[in-house]
Amino acid sequence: MAKIRYYYNTETCKYEPIKASKRAVFMNIMGFLSVSIVLALGLIYLYRTNFTPIKESKLLAKNQDLQVEWNLLNDQLQRAYDHAEELEFKDDKIYRVILDTEPIPLTVREGGVGGHDKYEGLMEEDLEQSEMIVGTFQKMDKLKKKLYIQSKSYDQISSLLSEKEKMWASRPAIQPINNKELTRLHTTFGKRYHPILKQWKNHEGLDFTAPSGTPVYATGDGVVTSSYRSSTYGNVIFINHGYGYQTRYAHLTEYIVNQGEGVKRGQVIGYVGSTGRSQAPHLHYEVLFNYKPINPINFFQRDLSNDEYEKLIEISKQETIPLD
Ligand SMILES: [Zn+2]
Repeated sequence: MAKIRYYYNTETCKYEPIKASKRAVFMNIMGFLSVSIVLALGLIYLYRTNFTPIKESKLLAKNQDLQVEWNLLNDQLQRAYDHAEELEFKDDKIYRVILDTEPIPLTVREGGVGGHDKYEGLMEEDLEQSEMIVGTFQKMDKLKKKLYIQSKSYDQISSLLSEKEKMWASRPAIQPINNKELTRLHTTFGKRYHPILKQWKNHEGLDFTAPSGTPVYATGDGVVTSSYRSSTYGNVIFINHGYGYQTRYAHLTEYIVNQGEGVKRGQVIGYVGSTGRSQAPHLHYEVLFNYKPINPINFFQRDLSNDEYEKLIEISKQETIPLD
């Protein structure tokens, strides 16, 4: 039962019930509602500022996990990038130096990678981490470019190496007869008194003394340009090694290779003799570079140790009479 309030009426000297007006009742209700709404809004605000909804907090946690994964991926990408730079360094500073070729210009290695414009789409998506994401994509692009250039560079190095191998095999690089004991080199290269002509003459090769019939070797890969009997050289073989190099082997008892024949380094091509203008059995050996005779002693490192080579140089300095 609703409580009935009374008041004391001084005119009637009686307690009479209080009758509330409709307006007062309305104002009371409105007041109650206003306080309730303000309280409710306050509670909602407090909740929103202090507590994260479960769904949203799950998303936040997932987002944090993804960021950690992304950073790990970035670290791995950076390591791959550093490794690619090491390969570039070895390529330019070691392989290309050995092969005597120019390093790849920086403009080629690093040119043609897109800037920020390429990733406008990503930037427009207004992602919180768009700078980080674009940075990763750019690094990935640079790495792809580096690896592409590096792979092309290795193709070039491979073909250069094949060419160099061919050149190294062709270069006259051993002694033309077996001379391990270093007793065969008889005379030196250059101006010497000629024993038969009795005059000073340029001796354009080296003489190796050896018994008749001692095998004579081709000193590098090449092609026999001629083998014939000459009045001065006797039985002689001319070999063209390419790359500007030629060799000549004179005074042979016989030659066993003919014009146009391909020869390999170390192949027996004839035998020591004393044919032509010769004093005693020996091999007269010449090396020419671009048609000019050069001292063959510069080419014997390959089959000698450093000590042996120095000893051979000493021997070559001794004054002896050429056997021609
Ligand atoms: Zn000679």
